[in-house]
Formats: sequence, C-alpha cells, structure tokens
Amino acid sequence: MIKEGELYSGKAKTVYGTDNPEKLIMEFRDSLTAFNGKKKSEVPKKGYYNAQIAAKLLGLLEENGIKTHFDSMLSGNEMVVDAVEIIKIEVIVRNIAAGSLVKKYPFKTGEKLDPPIILFDYKSDEHGDPMINDDIALALHLASKDELTEIRKMALKINSILLKYLDEKGILLPDFKLEFGRYHGKIVLADEISCDTCRFWDKITGESLDKDVFRFDKGDLAAAYREVAKRIVPGINL
Ligand code: UDP
Repeated sequence: MIKEGELYSGKAKTVYGTDNPEKLIMEFRDSLTAFNGKKKSEVPKKGYYNAQIAAKLLGLLEENGIKTHFDSMLSGNEMVVDAVEIIKIEVIVRNIAAGSLVKKYPFKTGEKLDPPIILFDYKSDEHGDPMINDDIALALHLASKDELTEIRKMALKINSILLKYLDEKGILLPDFKLEFGRYHGKIVLADEISCDTCRFWDKITGESLDKDVFRFDKGDLAAAYREVAKRIVPGINL
C-alpha cells in the first residue's frame, strides 16, 4: 500500500489517501484539543496509545459481529481503514451521568443510567455540534429512517460488548462517542474508540483515564492513556 496526499486534518487525526481508492490511512497525532478547540496541547505518545487502543477495540467489535472500517495497522499510530462515507451524526452512548449531561439536566455525576441513553449530535464545528433528534436528522438528510434505526441498534450492541470487555479490565465506561459511515450500501462503525472519545473511569478508585485529565487539569495525561493501553492491549510496547 502506498500512502498518498493528505485529504483532511482534524484536531487529533490526519487522513491520507492511498493507491487503493477503497482504503485510507488514519494517522493518530499527539495533538489534542478541548472545549471546541479553545484549549490545545501536544502530548508525546498520545497518538500511539490512542491508535493501539482503537485498533484493539475495533478488532474486538469485529470479532463480535460489528462491521467496522478497521483494516490493519500500518505503523504504531497509522491505521488503514475502509474509505467510508461518513454520516454527520455523533452518536453519544451514556451509561453513567457525567460531563454535559450533568450540566444540562438534573443528573448527578456518577448516577447509573439504566437503560443506557443514546443521544445524537449534528457533526458540525460551524454549528457547535448541537444535539439533534430523528426529525432534524431526517430533515437535514443526514440519514434515512432505516439507517437511524440501524445506527441505534449497532450503538447498543457496541455498548454491551465494550462494557463487558472493559469491566474485565477494571474500567468503567460512563459515556463515549461513535461515528458511522456507509460502505457498499451498509452502515459500518467508523472513526475511533479511544481515550479521546470515551470516558474511562478506574473501577476501584473512580479516577479518570481519558481526555478529562486534560480538560480539567487532573494530572498526567500520558500516564492515564498508558494505563488504559496497558490494561486492554496485550503485549503493547509502552
Ligand atoms: N465526545 C467526543 N467528541 C465530541 C463530543 C463528545 O468524543 O465532539 C465524547 C466525550 O469524550 C465523552 C462523551 O462523548 O466521552 C460525552 O461527552 P459530553 O456530551 O459529556 O461532552 P463533554 O463533557 O465532552 O462536554
């Protein structure tokens, strides 16, 4: 596979074309941002840890029957993925109240949400990723009714698989963000599942092992991401 030109560079990842029109390369960078890009930093090895965690979790989901865009790893922080058409909806799954849910509604941080809550945000920096419902998603032609049903069903199944796997590693999963895409007429899981896109809490101490360490200056971000990588990626070179 030959890596070609840069197609898109976001806040934490850069996407490159390849000599195969069906494949892209997703590079996980060491940069990170929070609060809509207002807070920025660079943390050595962050991209590597996130790429390894995402590869492990996407692989786990594939093994459990979820179609994803994951193909293979090209290097420590570069992932080969299927060139899907991204659906502009951020799917948030919540198992324990935290973050914006607690700010906007009368939930208490740490309160269990059973059954889990699924929320949709419109993926648009220009509009500040506002929360949407099915009617807005349909009116904006973001996805069809059947696709929304399929996305919800997949998100719940992904949640069950991740909850079980992470629990065995001593990690709670309060919430996380998913993105889906279309590939040869089917809905597939795209983007990443990593410490940048999930809340991970240590099951015993409750300490954050995710981007909240950066958002709220809770300590050493690289150490938190390394801890997740150590627990969930067998044999990883830390
Ligand atoms: N999230 C994300 N990207 C976004 C918005 C949210 O990865 O653009 C993740 C975030 O890391 C958290 C979950 O989705 O794990 C829920 O985030 P929330 O709505 O609580 O927003 P935040 O607390 O980040 O303001």
